Amino acid sequence: MTETVADFRARAEEFIAARYPLRNPDVDDDRVDTISRSRDGHHAMTEAARNFQRELFDARLAGSRVPVEYGGLGLTRDHEAALEEILTRYDTPNRRPMGIGIGLALPTILSAGTEEQKQRYVPKILSAEESWCQLFSEPDAGSDLVSLRTKAQLDGEAWVVNGQKVWSSYASDAEYGMLLVRSDPNSEKPHSGITMLILKMDLPGVSVRPLVDITGGLHFNEVFLQDVLVSKDSVLGEPNKGWGVANGTLGGERSSYRGGSGGGRRKRQVLEAAIGTDVLRDPVMRQRITSVIADEWIVDLLGERFSAGSVCDGNPAAGSLMKVLVGNLEQKSSELVVDILGLSATAWLQHDWDAAGPNHQINASRQSMIAGGTHQIQRNLLGERVLGLPR
Ligand SMILES: Cc1cc2nc3c(=O)[nH]c(=O)nc-3n(C[C@H](O)[C@H](O)[C@H](O)COP(=O)(O)OP(=O)(O)OC[C@H]3O[C@@H](n4cnc5c(N)ncnc54)[C@H](O)[C@@H]3O)c2cc1C
Repeated sequence: MTETVADFRARAEEFIAARYPLRNPDVDDDRVDTISRSRDGHHAMTEAARNFQRELFDARLAGSRVPVEYGGLGLTRDHEAALEEILTRYDTPNRRPMGIGIGLALPTILSAGTEEQKQRYVPKILSAEESWCQLFSEPDAGSDLVSLRTKAQLDGEAWVVNGQKVWSSYASDAEYGMLLVRSDPNSEKPHSGITMLILKMDLPGVSVRPLVDITGGLHFNEVFLQDVLVSKDSVLGEPNKGWGVANGTLGGERSSYRGGSGGGRRKRQVLEAAIGTDVLRDPVMRQRITSVIADEWIVDLLGERFSAGSVCDGNPAAGSLMKVLVGNLEQKSSELVVDILGLSATAWLQHDWDAAGPNHQINASRQSMIAGGTHQIQRNLLGERVLGLPR
């Protein structure tokens, strides 16, 4: 018999409450930031994320909406939402390092993979045995992804891959990557000569070099590919039809960006900085604070409509709208917090974790207008696909 949402919620809360303390709701919840910070360093954070995902899987709490035959629970969006709500209230580890596998690779495999691929990869993503990265961007192919040059040539039973990827989040921790390659350099249109391959990250010829990001963390990497032999059956979708598969992945990515906003978090941040200071006497600052609060409210309300499929009449490009709104809010609120705090946001005592927060936020928020496609590109997509403007 299908487990009701109420039963699932009770079971999940009992499990989590037995292992983790309740969060203090007044303390900022930075687990949701795209570029997360970690007291114990990058590797401890990724390890904790993996262990926690494993715990959820073992407790039959992971993969609510994934079909049972692929290791999921075969339940509903409401079951998933119930778990997410509980996790925001408890002091559980940051799950972001597992996000590319669970949020991008898993749905891509479910929609484009063969039956064998679904059975092979999906359960291991859910159980955290294998984590994933996304190998799309290249030094000369970011916004203009279709101009990517990493090439793959079929030689008997294997693709021979040569090239370079960059900005690959969590690639140094991943077992697998979704790799976009140019498989037909002579195709009439650049879109039709691209293939998506499943890349095992420890194959000979794959080298991963971490990059230090603006916050001083190790969020992303460069990935070099030299004569890497990838088996013929590692194609996701069909050879030379990877552009369509990648667009499915990117659509999901855009709509999943919440940048740590929503649920009143930005409101709490700006009010915490402002209350008890003179800025509340300044009408311009009051207006800026109100504007952040109103924008976050709009993001929440629109998010509900987006989930229900009614934003832009359900046009898939609606994800771009969400991404632009959330990115703007993230910038606006992190800049406001720093403006309110003044000097204390620019200088603090070493090891004072809380005082360093606003500075991390303003640096980390720069990504919100770039990752998953820049705001200019999202606006182009909205103009062309939603408003029907000429290209
Ligand atoms: C935090 C973070 C995580 C990331 N993780 C990954 C990852 O895991 N895997 C991955 O593959 N990539 C990842 N990326 C890379 C990301 O997808 C690219 O940075 C992004 O697509 C932009 O590409 P670019 O950096 O090459 O900039 P460019 O494409 O060089 O753009 C430079 C500037 O030109 C503007 N521009 C370019 N073309 C146009 C146009 N047609 N119209 C108007 N303006 C234009 C852009 O808006 C931008 O302002 C990540 C990026 C960030 C910030």
